[in-house]
Amino acid sequence: MADVKIIPGFTLVRQNNELKDELLAVLTEVIEKGMFILGENVMALEKKIAELVQVKYGIGVANGSDALYLALLACGIGPGDEVITTPFTFFSTAGSISRTGATPVFVDICEETMNLDPRLIEEKITAKTKAILPVHLYGCPAEMDEIVQIAKAYNLKVIEDAAQAILAEYKGKRVGSLGDVCCFSFFPTKNLGSFGDAGMVVTNDEEIAERIKVLRVHGAKIKYHHDYIGCNSRLDELQAAILNLKLNYLPQWTERRREIAALYTTLLQNKLGEDSALIYPHEPDHVFHVYHQYTIRTGRREELKNYLAANGIGSTVYYPVPLHLQKAYAHLGYQKGDFKVAEKVCTQVLSLPMYPELTNEEIYLVVKKVADFFA
Ligand SMILES: *Cc1c(COP(=O)(O)O)cnc(C)c1O
Repeated sequence: MADVKIIPGFTLVRQNNELKDELLAVLTEVIEKGMFILGENVMALEKKIAELVQVKYGIGVANGSDALYLALLACGIGPGDEVITTPFTFFSTAGSISRTGATPVFVDICEETMNLDPRLIEEKITAKTKAILPVHLYGCPAEMDEIVQIAKAYNLKVIEDAAQAILAEYKGKRVGSLGDVCCFSFFPTKNLGSFGDAGMVVTNDEEIAERIKVLRVHGAKIKYHHDYIGCNSRLDELQAAILNLKLNYLPQWTERRREIAALYTTLLQNKLGEDSALIYPHEPDHVFHVYHQYTIRTGRREELKNYLAANGIGSTVYYPVPLHLQKAYAHLGYQKGDFKVAEKVCTQVLSLPMYPELTNEEIYLVVKKVADFFA
């Protein structure tokens, strides 16, 4: 294994090295100004993200999970309420619903996009349902027209979980502008990542925006005068400064992600044939996918993962267990077999290395190893 080339499943080292001088400059500026919480960098970031998404308000918070939690609270969701969501997502989507005291109600996914299946939503709506929370998984927007239409018919809020999908588009509109309120995460591994935890809520609804601004500082509109019981969910200046800088590069990084995805699919199909044992990521015609992950599916997932690892190539399983079968949700009483598509894809998905700094030579090598495995 002496000269095996190592291709990490994910790394920020390359990006940080490229941006090192610029990063140090903006961090130095924050240090010299001495203002660390909710200052001018946060305000600039809130304005820029809101503009980018084409909505009126952006509210910086401590992380993507708090963004979801506060968005739900601001929509008036709490104990006794139900929120419809997908079982095939990061735990935080449902966990944030539970934190408000409400109950997540799962609905199976579409096999092609692995997003919430709108055809299955209506049968789960009850008198307690208050909102639908679709996730734009892997950077591919959920079927928002259908979801918004159902929400309107039943007077429900739509809260988008766009933690993996900044800059993604659905029918020419950016995600974040499609529901009542939308949540982003700037966790380091996301398409736009900070050097720690950070998140943002965006909305066109002034009332929701105002409520979140107050909730993120312990429910106090005026300092030390608390109208609500909120929490500490402030975004800090160091993170915001990094994000403002990186935001300048996000469009070109997103294009590179799309280029890498197209290369993977074309090269793999050339080598393996279109009807091989591999299922490729699906990008519906009406969306602009931002490829937070490039996720293939195969019945031989564990074997392939081990084979790639033995050849120095990192790959990751997002996610091995659907949320309805998580121990934390045993009390909800779901059974194996309740959401067959989600359960099936959990055994098949494998995300290949995907970051804008990946070189074409590395992509060729990943493709070669995947092809060798199936040969
Ligand atoms: C990352 C992520 C979150 C949570 O964001 P944090 O910033 O890690 O709290 C929520 N939902 C999805 C789909 C995510 O990928």
